[in-house]
Amino acid sequence: MSAAKKPLFRRVALIGLGLIGSSLARVMRRERLVEHIAGCVRSKASRATVRQLGLVDSLHTTPAAAVRGADLVLLCTPVGTYDALAQAIAPMLRAGTILSDVGSVKQSVIRDVGPYLPEGVHFVPGHPIAGTEHSGPASGFAELFEGRWCILTPPPGTDATAVERVAELWRRCGAMIEIMDAHHHDRVLGITSHLPHLIAYTIVATAGDVEQSMRAEVAKYSAGGFRDFTRIAASDPIMWRDIFLYNREAVLEMLQRFSEDLTALQRAIRWGEGEKLEALFRRTRELRQSIIDAHQAGTFDAREPDRVGLKAPGQGKRARPAKSPAGGQSAARSRRARRPKSGRQA
Ligand code: NAP
Repeated sequence: MSAAKKPLFRRVALIGLGLIGSSLARVMRRERLVEHIAGCVRSKASRATVRQLGLVDSLHTTPAAAVRGADLVLLCTPVGTYDALAQAIAPMLRAGTILSDVGSVKQSVIRDVGPYLPEGVHFVPGHPIAGTEHSGPASGFAELFEGRWCILTPPPGTDATAVERVAELWRRCGAMIEIMDAHHHDRVLGITSHLPHLIAYTIVATAGDVEQSMRAEVAKYSAGGFRDFTRIAASDPIMWRDIFLYNREAVLEMLQRFSEDLTALQRAIRWGEGEKLEALFRRTRELRQSIIDAHQAGTFDAREPDRVGLKAPGQGKRARPAKSPAGGQSAARSRRARRPKSGRQA
C-alpha cells in the first residue's frame, strides 16, 4: 500500500450521520482514510437509511457504544446536543483519542464539551464551511468538502500532532485548512452565515404572513431573490435554532449593525438619495466579485458548472466515479438520480 493510501485512523466514530456526517462517511470510505467507520444516529428511520446506503462498518444505538475503541470521534449533530453527548461518551474515551466536531458554533462547543474530557484526550474542534439546505443520511455526498475551507479552533495548548492529524483528514477530504480562535470564528460566521440565514427566515416568514390572495402570487412570481431566500429558509429548523441560541452574542452584534445599515438604506430611499444607493450597490457588486476571485462563489454541487469556480489553484481533487457501496452504479450517477440543487453553508 502506498503512503498516500495509508489510512489516517484505525477507527473513527461518527456521532450523527446527517448531511455532514454522512458526507464524511462517504468521502472517508472513497478515499480509504480510515479502517473502520462506527456510526450512531438517533432515530430508527435514519438507522434504516444508513444501513441501506451502507455508510458505516458498524452502526450503534448509543453514542457510548459507538466511540468505544475509537482513535477519532467526530460529533456531527446539532450543537445543542453536545453537552449531553460529551457527558455520555466521556467515560469511554481513552488517553490519546482525538475528539473533534463539525458544529457551526465554536465557543459553545469548547465550553460544553471541554470540561467532560478525561486527561490525555485531545480536543480539536472544527467546522467545515460547506453544506446544503438538505439534511439526513441520504442528503450527503462525498464531494461536499472539495475546495472548501475547514476551520479548526483548537484551544490553546492542544497537542500539535492531534491538530495536524485532524487537518490532514480534512485535506484528504478535499478541504483547505484554516486555524482560528473560536471567538473570532463565531464573529466571522455570524456575519457570513448566521445573519444571512436569519434574514432569509425573516423574509420568507414575512411573505408567508401576507394575506392569502397575495401568497399565491408570491409563489407564482418567486423568481431570483425570493426563490434563493426560500431555499436558505428551508434549512433544518433544529440545527438553526441551536446555532442562533449558541452563537447569541455574535449574532446579536451583527444584527445590530445590520439594522443600522438597513435604517440608513431606508432613509436614502425615503429622501431619494439615488447616488447613495448606487454607491452601495456598486460596493456590494465588488464584494461579490472578490468572493468569485477567491473561488468560493460556486454551488456545492459537484455536477454543476459553477462548481469549477470553487477550486483554489492546486487544492482539492476532482470528483471521480466510485462504486457505490449500496449498488454497483457509480456514486456520481446515483447522486444525479437523487440529489437536488444545493448551495448553502452553515
Ligand atoms: P442533519 O443532516 O440534520 O443531521 C443531524 C444528525 O444528527 C442526524 O443523523 C441525527 O439523527 C443526529 N442526531 C441528532 N441528535 C442526536 C443525538 N442526540 N444523538 C445522536 N444523533 C443525533 O445535520 P447536519 O446538517 O449534518 O449538521 C450537523 C452539524 O454540522 C451541526 O452541528 C451543524 O451546525 C454542522 N454544520 C452543518 C452544515 C450544513 O450546512 N448543514 C455545515 C457545516 C456544519 P436522526 O436523523 O436520527 O435525528
